[in-house]
Amino acid sequence: MKRTIRDLKNIKGERILLRCDFNVPLDNWGDILDDTRIVAAIPTIQYLQKQGAKLIVCSHLGRPKGYDKFLSLFPVAVVLMKYFPNKVKFCNKTIGDEVKTAIKNMKNGEILVLENLRFHAGEEKNDPAFVKELASLADFYVDDAFGVAHRKHASNYGVALKLPNAIGFLIEKEIQVFNKAFEKPAHPFVAIFGGAKVADKLNLINNVMDKADTIIIGGGMAYTFLKAQGENIGDSIMSADQIENAKKILFEAQNKGIKILLPIDHVCLTENERVVRTSKIGNGMTALDIGNNTIRMFAQEIKNAKQIVWNGPLGKYEDDRFKKGTMKIARAVAKSGAYTIVGGGDSVSAINECGVADKINHLSTGGGASLKLMEGKVLPGVEVIDTL
Ligand code: ADP
Ligand code: MG
Repeated sequence: MKRTIRDLKNIKGERILLRCDFNVPLDNWGDILDDTRIVAAIPTIQYLQKQGAKLIVCSHLGRPKGYDKFLSLFPVAVVLMKYFPNKVKFCNKTIGDEVKTAIKNMKNGEILVLENLRFHAGEEKNDPAFVKELASLADFYVDDAFGVAHRKHASNYGVALKLPNAIGFLIEKEIQVFNKAFEKPAHPFVAIFGGAKVADKLNLINNVMDKADTIIIGGGMAYTFLKAQGENIGDSIMSADQIENAKKILFEAQNKGIKILLPIDHVCLTENERVVRTSKIGNGMTALDIGNNTIRMFAQEIKNAKQIVWNGPLGKYEDDRFKKGTMKIARAVAKSGAYTIVGGGDSVSAINECGVADKINHLSTGGGASLKLMEGKVLPGVEVIDTL
């Protein structure tokens, strides 16, 4: 059992460095498009703040190369100010004397938001000098940044080795949900995979195969498998170097009696930009969504499930012409009586767009980190936290 913030006693007046994942999507004006990740961190912040700790909150935002005023964490601090009136201050530095002075001036129960961690190259490199600077700011370290838990960065790995530490409520919940789903799945367990990152996700299918009863493969994932079965996939996306792996997975599934469902019809774009529905992909066609018969077949399986894990959209859902498959499956998942988990940045945003977010049991806040958990891997950012 990892130490959680419940295990930190007598923290009144203590300086706690809290790593959050405030990597929120921004529009072209630098305004926050979706504050889900900030809201997700509130319970941990509130718990520590109510006990009178001095909370020093840090996060990365985007992929800056050095200082970038468009990727300041100030707008994030403004959102927090709404939730904690008169308690939140912002420091436009991440480390150094100005930060130390700001911390000295903090009262118990106050929250100081530091500037973007990634303005310093040392963050992603887990650089010892940067780690030392961060660690010197606080007496305790708390990690609630699930979105980066699969990385070994200064603020979520290096610093944890230097200070007494614990995980926050968000990481605790994510780990519990995935552990339970994969260690004691409710059956029938249906796993749904789509999206585009075939190479990343094949490992995951290998792990899920020992636990799931049915694996549904759609979206950009499907065409590597259909190609492996000898079908014509036209110009649809696929990973040539994963075909052998896909064959292996199909063969093993057959041996183990696991059902793998692949699309039986498609919505395609032709060379001259026409949208056609077909069960046979022709030369020059690109399949960008699953067809109606496939939707029906997948939905039937989903209806009977007791547990569903979904990662990856079933088509190019950003384009209205190829959205239907993903939206129909989102609705089917939401309507099923199953325990439902959805992970992956695009998958979660598709669920939100469909308006069924409140009908999903667990929407994971971390794309890469949730994929690693599904692969059965340990997350370095969690591993490094002390056990009880
Ligand atoms: P997640 O973020 O949920 O892990 P991915 O990033 O792996 O999912 O995949 C999402 C992307 O996959 C989307 O941009 C979507 O347009 C793309 N995609 C889904 N189906 C197809 C397809 N048939 N052809 C091309 N791209 C696809
Ligand atoms: Mg994605």
